[in-house]
Amino acid sequence: MKFQAIKGVRDILPPESALWNRVEQAARDVFGTFGFAEIRLPIFEQTELFARSVGQETDIVSKEMYSFQDHDSSISLRPEATASVVRAYIEHGMQTLPGNVKLYYMGPMFRRERPQKGRYRQFYQIGAEVLGPSDAPGIDAEVIEMLLAFFERLQLKGAVLNINSIGDKNCRPAYVELLRAELQKVREQLGADSQRRIDTNPLRVLDSKLEHEQAIIEKLPHIADHLCAECRAHYDEVKRQLALRGITYQENWRLVRGLDYYMRTTFEITAPGLGSQNAVCGGGRYDGLVELLGGQATTKGIGFAIGTDRLLLSLQESGAGEVEGGLDVYLAWFGAAAQTAAIKLARRLRDAGFVVELPAVEMKFGKSLGLADRLKARHAVILGEDELAAGVVAVKNLADGTQNKLAEQDLFSYLRASHASD
Ligand code: ATP
Ligand code: MG
Repeated sequence: MKFQAIKGVRDILPPESALWNRVEQAARDVFGTFGFAEIRLPIFEQTELFARSVGQETDIVSKEMYSFQDHDSSISLRPEATASVVRAYIEHGMQTLPGNVKLYYMGPMFRRERPQKGRYRQFYQIGAEVLGPSDAPGIDAEVIEMLLAFFERLQLKGAVLNINSIGDKNCRPAYVELLRAELQKVREQLGADSQRRIDTNPLRVLDSKLEHEQAIIEKLPHIADHLCAECRAHYDEVKRQLALRGITYQENWRLVRGLDYYMRTTFEITAPGLGSQNAVCGGGRYDGLVELLGGQATTKGIGFAIGTDRLLLSLQESGAGEVEGGLDVYLAWFGAAAQTAAIKLARRLRDAGFVVELPAVEMKFGKSLGLADRLKARHAVILGEDELAAGVVAVKNLADGTQNKLAEQDLFSYLRASHASD
């Protein structure tokens, strides 16, 4: 029997895992400077939590969740994390905390989708949420600013910000009905998915990528023309706040999100190199969600989720995915006395932060140095009976072949200097 990873899930191996670490560390650093702190969430929750928040009629809940019976309750692997953040916010009474609560998370999500490039069944998200009493448009803009600062830190190229407002419970229902009525008129010209969505979720028709539906969709009414005064003012102020931050964006009236809880501001960021899976981040405001899940009606919320897998693909595609790393020192030793000295030297080098490979068994000189080459070590430090007697080490720069004999106390500064000039 030969085991294989399950369809749609994959292993992240070195050296790529180093890039994952860099990306996640950059998120911690950048989000931290905006006052966000990490929340660690469970991987599974009651199915009902997702049904209630994401929405029963969404693709995610209706066909993509991994759900199973646990005794007499239904449990699901999380398809996204906003529901869990809000659940935790309410469960822990975080509304009593001062100001807005700013949280970020990172980790795997699970959706039973058709696997392809940038689309997996276990995929990863890095997300952030702001929950609290204020829905000031400045919060929306700052969340987007933080997101873009993160992408900039990673030197992601070609990211494009799309924004839209999808109204609130005062104005959206009327627009949805108008949309439904208009869609009924063209029902026969639409594909099966869109036909179904006329009944279940007409907004999602705007999301369609089907070639033959595009001309029809372009003629549908725009939500921007149907926003209530409050939503319009909120949206205008979000745009002004983005401009204050020097952030450029494209308005995209067809940008609706696939989850029911969004309202007012929605946004999405696309990046190059991803084919049709080009959205690296989706987000928006969800002011009614806390109340929907049993919390206070006055609590507002906004957040985003970055598709980490796609972010990495785009970085790799553009050449920004290289990570410094590798082996600094291959410590070749020859003879029992040299091994003892090498063990101690390896300890001191590692304490000083160098990455050291110490062969566990003695090898012939040629074989040992050959391995150092194949491991792509920067330097081979050679410790034999002669060096030991003379109180020196031999250092070979494996990139250019130059060799030096150094007193041990000079080795550290030598390695540091050559590392800095790499
Ligand atoms: P898409 O339209 O590409 O299916 P979505 O609207 O389902 O995306 P969200 O639920 O908003 O996506 O999730 C936010 C981000 O998570 C997406 O922009 C994407 O980068 C990433 N993402 C979503 N589903 C997957 C998946 N199956 N595999 C990899 N990344 C994903
Ligand atoms: Mg999706």
